[in-house]
Amino acid sequence: MPHARGQDDMTRAFYPGSFDPMTNGHLDILRQALAVFDAVIVGIGVHPGKTPMFSFDERARLIANCVGGTSEAELHVVAFDNLAVDAAVNAGATAIVRGLRDGTDLNYEMQMSGMNGVMRPEVTTVFFPASPATRPITATLVRQIARMGGDVSAFVPANVAEAIRGKTA
Ligand code: ADP
Repeated sequence: MPHARGQDDMTRAFYPGSFDPMTNGHLDILRQALAVFDAVIVGIGVHPGKTPMFSFDERARLIANCVGGTSEAELHVVAFDNLAVDAAVNAGATAIVRGLRDGTDLNYEMQMSGMNGVMRPEVTTVFFPASPATRPITATLVRQIARMGGDVSAFVPANVAEAIRGKTA
């Protein structure tokens, strides 16, 4: 007998990455994931040895501010420093979201999803294709361009461009 969809039937996805900073590419994938899943938990990987351009709090605020019209229940940002599959399980997610830009991403992501699937068979990796306009964007290049005084406003949401100007001015 069919039952009403309740809280426990919610589809939750975990979207891990560095998001240093959030780019139009990340935002494109996040929007696609929000359209498919009931809730998306963005996991910001924090590595003790690495000095990011933006702190966790700054990155979390930029992500929340560039996705309008979502509730806390639909979009949530957390930090993680363990395996993404373990962080996904801790977040109550049954799927890991990843974006695919090109064949290089595909090869690497297939390896990761294959090994993650062995470690945590209950978590499925779901790939979303990068939209054509965002395919060339990487956060690493955005940081490099910004540090050399270039204009990154075509590659990141407006609030991120403003935050970058604040860091590099
Ligand atoms: P980056 O590779 O830019 O440093 P992350 O490590 O934060 O980004 O990557 C998090 C996820 O976002 C990965 O699944 C990555 O493939 C995806 N991603 C990053 N940039 C893009 C983009 N331009 N289009 C689609 N997906 C992207």
